[in-house]
Order: sequence, then C-alpha cells, then structure tokens
Amino acid sequence: MTGKPGSESCDILIRNGYLLTMDAERTVYSCGAVAINDKTIIAVGRDAELSTRFRPRRLFDAKGAVIHPGFIDCHYHANIHLIRGIAPDDPKTTAPLPFFEWTNQLEDEDEYIQTQVVSLEMLRRGYTFFLEPGTVYEPDAAAAAVESVGVRAGLADPYLWDVSDAGNSRPSNTARIPNDAERAFKVLGRQLARNKDPDGLVRGHVAIYGEGSQSEQLMRAAKECADAAGVTFTMHHNFTVEQAERDDARFGGGSSMVHFARCGLLGPNSLFVHMNVIRDDEISAILDSRMSLVWHPGNAMYYGISSDKKPRIPELIDQGCNVVFGVDVAKVWTFGGLEHIGYLVARQDKRYIPSTRLLEMRTAHAARALGLSEMIGSIEVGKRADIVIRSNREPETLPSINPVQELLLTGHSTFASTVFVNGKLVLLGGQSTQLDQEAVLAAAREMAGRVLKRAGYIPRLSWPVIN
Ligand SMILES: [Zn+2]
Repeated sequence: MTGKPGSESCDILIRNGYLLTMDAERTVYSCGAVAINDKTIIAVGRDAELSTRFRPRRLFDAKGAVIHPGFIDCHYHANIHLIRGIAPDDPKTTAPLPFFEWTNQLEDEDEYIQTQVVSLEMLRRGYTFFLEPGTVYEPDAAAAAVESVGVRAGLADPYLWDVSDAGNSRPSNTARIPNDAERAFKVLGRQLARNKDPDGLVRGHVAIYGEGSQSEQLMRAAKECADAAGVTFTMHHNFTVEQAERDDARFGGGSSMVHFARCGLLGPNSLFVHMNVIRDDEISAILDSRMSLVWHPGNAMYYGISSDKKPRIPELIDQGCNVVFGVDVAKVWTFGGLEHIGYLVARQDKRYIPSTRLLEMRTAHAARALGLSEMIGSIEVGKRADIVIRSNREPETLPSINPVQELLLTGHSTFASTVFVNGKLVLLGGQSTQLDQEAVLAAAREMAGRVLKRAGYIPRLSWPVIN
C-alpha cells in the first residue's frame, strides 16, 4: 500500500467479488478487487485494501459474484455459426445441408454478421477471445465484426491447403478456394501483419486446414512461419480412424504424430485440433514436444467416433499435456457446453478432470496454447484487463459454496453480467455497450434466411407446421 487511503487514482475499480485470479499460485480472494488503468491491471488484492487505497473514476460493485479472467476458446469456425438448426441434429452424412453448401453461399456481409453474433454470444457467456482456424473467407470482415463488439480474436489466412484431392475434406468444400499449392505458399503469413499493433483486439496466427489436405512441405513452411513470428501454428488432425490411417500412409507408414515429431513439426507453439484418434506411440511424441491440443469432447460423441475409439485426451490431461477446448461449430452445443461434456467423457472412463482444471483449460492454459500468457489468461498486475463479472442473481448460481464447480458444470458458464476487454466495458447487465444487440439479432435472422435461399434449401420440421 502506498500513500494515504484513497490517494491513488485509477480508471476502474471492480470490488466486492469472489475473485479467481488464475495467477501462478491460483490465488482466490473471497472478497477481492481489481484496479485498472487504461488497458492494464494495476492492482489485485483484498477488497478492504484496494477500496481504501484507490479513488477510481468508475466503480463496479460485483456484489459478491464471481470475477474471473475472460474465457478463451481455441478453435471456432465463425462463418458457420448460424448453420445450427439448419445442419440437423442427425449427424449422418446424408444431412440435407452440408457445411460447404452454406459456406459457398457466403458474402462478406454474411461473415460479418455471423462473427458479430459469435462475439456477442461468447461475451454473454464470459468468453473474450476466440481463435478462428483460417476458415473465414474474408478476414477483414471478421476482424471488423470482432472490433465492433469489442472482444478479441485470432485470425489466420483462409484455407491454406495444397493436396489436390483435398484429403479428407470433400472436393466440393474447395469451390471457393481450390487446393492450390502456389496460392497457399504465397498467402501464408499475411494475417501476421495484424500483430504490428500491440493494442489490437485482433491478432494473426498461422493455420493450415490439415485433415489430409496438406503436404509435408506446407506443414514445414507453416511451422517455420509461425516460429519466426512467435505465434501459434494450428491445424485439424486425426479426426476419424479413416483420416488417421490415410495420413499414416501419406507420412511414411507409421503413426503420423511420431513422424511429425521427428520432422520438428511439433513444439510448444503447435496446436493440433480434434485428435480423436491417438495411438500408443503418439502419446510420448505429444508429451515430449510440449505441444497443445484442442479437445472437443462432444464432436467425437456426435459422430460416434468415441464408440470405436476410446478418447485418449483425458489420459493426456492426467499426464500434464496442455489440453484446451474449442467449440468448433455450435452444432448441438455452444460456448459453455464443452467443459461439462469433457468432465463426463472422462468420468465414463473412470478418469476425473477437476472443475479447477476445467477453469485452467479455459483461461491460463488456453493463453499458453496461444502464446499469449504474458497478456491474457489471468488477473495479474501488468496484464490486459479482460475481466468477467458473473451474475449471482440467478438460481443456477446457488449455493455459491463451490463457485468454480457451480460455474463450469451445473451452470454451463451462462450469465456473464459485466465484461471488460482491454480495460473497456463491453457488456453491462448482459447487454452489449458497443452496439444495438437487437439490431444484430434481426440482421442475423435475415442473413440466415438469405443464405438458405441462395443455397436453394428449405428447412423442414418432421411435424406438420401450419403457416
Ligand atoms: Zn474445426
């Protein structure tokens, strides 16, 4: 403490909350406070101390509710967000509207509106960052949408793939951006220009599509590009048994992850997504590399993959692998759903992921996977003020005895009340402070109808509907 009580000024003081700092010691203040100046956290501690020390320009009383660092989602395809309800709950390949029929119809404005909805939806559930894996066709449209809501996102160059049959991705997926090696190598790294602005909400990283659509050459170029820029290199891999076997054959015959490790393609900045199929010899290749994995425990169940192949990720979590979550596509879940599913998937195999670990996977561990630990992922002095105050006025938040478990398991991370990103108030009372939420929702409804019309698709319910 310095100076007489109330002598230090700050822009914002958040006080009187159950503060989960997620610092290295995982310090929790049962009645804590955070002081912010501009974009940065300048003090964290007991409410009694900070409230007397600071004279804030703006005071926020959390009224005992949970305060935590903004959650981070490490894999989200923003431009297929509104296909939910259209891509039916029947996951068979005969589904009437495949993803590519939707994406092939998208104009820049459609990507802009969907990304606004993603950003609003995650904010209302306490998420402040999502990593888009290079599948938005027009990154500038997505970036503008993210900035309009005031959240953070990571963007990559769109659809870097160079294997002519598109591997496991159907060729029809490539109607807009063909599997063109020349283009892939030329475009690689363009989005990294976004990182020149240290204060920018939108950052660049390196992503290739993967899943059999990539040559080893492209993987090497992408990893080198990411290493040189100090950013994350991400791709889809080993989604199904068929994909895993195909890639094994393409990359030398053994387990592909072992081959990748030998080639130096796995490292602390590598972030591989899905990994529903992991063989025994791949476990040590993954652990030794200190790479991160994005887990979507629901997808493996949705497609029935986990009935053939036991999920190995809970085992890797036990062994200290940096596993994080990615919502991927909001098919039959959204932000806040995966922690609950992951917990139960582990329990099914008599394993246990504590809710405290689930919270780490959404905050500090996710920031590590994205190489952004110095900036976000915890509430600590010097870090950017990405801070969520939960509501404690909902019955689902009771009894407030174990707030972490209540928030992540029974509460499904709903009901963020107030959110700051980069020190700026962007959500108040569950409503955006940056734009007209109702207008965005109306535009989104209209947009979905417009895209479906272009695709020539008429949604049908199995029950009679009288118009
Ligand atoms: Zn994906």
